[in-house]
Amino acid sequence: MNPLVPREDFPILSRSVHGRRLVYLDSAATAQKPAPVIAAVDHFYRYTNANVLRSAHALADEATEAYEAARVKVARFIGAASPAEVVFTRGTTESLNGIARGWGDKFVGPGDEIVLSPMEHHANLIPWQQLARRREARLRFIELTPDGRITLEAAQAVIGPRTRLVALSAVSNVLGTINPIPEVAALAHQVGAVMVVDGAQSVPHEPTDVAALGADFLAFSGHKLGGPTGIGVLWGRETLLDAMDPFLFGGEMIAYVDREHATWADLPHKFEAGTPHIAGAVGLGAALDYLQAVGMARVRDHGRALGEEAYRRLAEAGVQVYGPAAPRAALVAFNLGPIHPHDVAQVFDAEGVAIRAGHHCAQPLMQWLGVAATARASFYIYNGSDDIDALLHAVEVTKRYFRR
Ligand code: PLP
Repeated sequence: MNPLVPREDFPILSRSVHGRRLVYLDSAATAQKPAPVIAAVDHFYRYTNANVLRSAHALADEATEAYEAARVKVARFIGAASPAEVVFTRGTTESLNGIARGWGDKFVGPGDEIVLSPMEHHANLIPWQQLARRREARLRFIELTPDGRITLEAAQAVIGPRTRLVALSAVSNVLGTINPIPEVAALAHQVGAVMVVDGAQSVPHEPTDVAALGADFLAFSGHKLGGPTGIGVLWGRETLLDAMDPFLFGGEMIAYVDREHATWADLPHKFEAGTPHIAGAVGLGAALDYLQAVGMARVRDHGRALGEEAYRRLAEAGVQVYGPAAPRAALVAFNLGPIHPHDVAQVFDAEGVAIRAGHHCAQPLMQWLGVAATARASFYIYNGSDDIDALLHAVEVTKRYFRR
C-alpha cells in the first residue's frame, strides 16, 4: 500500500535520522505537519498577528476573523449544530478536565455512577477519579473481551439507573480497538446519562459526526491530526454547555463584573478565558482543510488497512501483539518477548524507525494486559507498506541484537 498523500507535503519526512530515512511510526503521540499548516501559522504571525475579540483595529479584526473562521471549520468537520458549540482548549486533556469540572461538579452527586473502561488514557480516567472523590460518586468499568473489545452486554452490565455519565475513548491508543460509541451512547441515554467521547485517536482517523456518534461531549487534540500543539477542542451540545459552569475564569469570558460578582459571556466565549492559542486555531483550521481535501473516508480506510497489515505481519513474525486483529485502528502495540520496550525502541531508533515505548498513559490497561509496558507503532496518511517493511526489518535486527 502506498502512502495516501505525497510525503513531500510533510517537510520533516525528508530529513534523515542516524543517517537513515526517517520512518515515523509515532503519529498516535503526535502527527507530523503538512506544509499548508506550517504556512498558515507562519502567515498568521507575519501578517495578521493581534489579540482577538478585544481591540478595534484592522489587525485585531482580521485576527478575530481568522480565529472564528477556524471555529466554523471545526464545527463543519465534526458535524456540530453550530460554531457556538465549539470551544477551543489546549487539547483533549484540558477538554476532559473541563467537562469534569464544569459539568461534573454541578451535575454529579453522591452515589452517582461514572462509567469508564479499563482501556482509557489517563486523560479520560484521572479527571473522573478526582470528580468521584469530590462528589462522592462511584467509578464503574466496562469489562473487556480477552482481545480488548467492548461488547454491548458488558456495557449493559454496568450502565444503570445510577449512571450519570459514560466516558469512553472512540479509539484506544494502545489496543487499536474501535469502540461501539453510538450503541453505548444509546444505552447511556436510555438511563438519562450523558455520553462523553474521547476522540483523541478517532477524530484524526475516522469521519466524525457528533450526532451519529450520539455524543453529548467530544474532546480532541489538534496536534494528532496535523495541526499545531497546544490547541484542541471541547465540543458539547449547546444545552449542556449552557447549563455547565466555566472551568477557567478571567479575561474575555465575562458579560459583566463588579467588585464582588461576575456574569458569563455567551457560548463559546464563556469557556475561553484569557488569550487563546490564536495561531494554533488557524493552523488547526488548515489541518482540517488538508484532511477534508484528502477525504476522511479514505483516511479511515488507509489507517485501518495499515493497522491490520502491521498487526498481521507482526503476528506472523511471532511477535506478541495486543488488541483485536480487525477491524483495528492505525496502530499496533507489541512486545518482543522479554526485551524491554525501551530497549526495542532504542534499537529501532538506530534503524531510523521512530516508535513509542512505555505505558502509553494507560497504566490500568497495562495492568489488565499483565505487562509493565509495550512498544507501539502508529501510522498516518503519510505511511505506507514500505514503513511496515522497515518495522519488520527493525524487529529482526532487534531480535538478532539481543540474541548475541
Ligand atoms: N486520549 C487518548 C486516547 C490519547 O491517545 C491521548 C494522547 O495520547 C489523550 C487522550 C491526551 O491527548 P493530549 O495529550 O493531546 O491532551
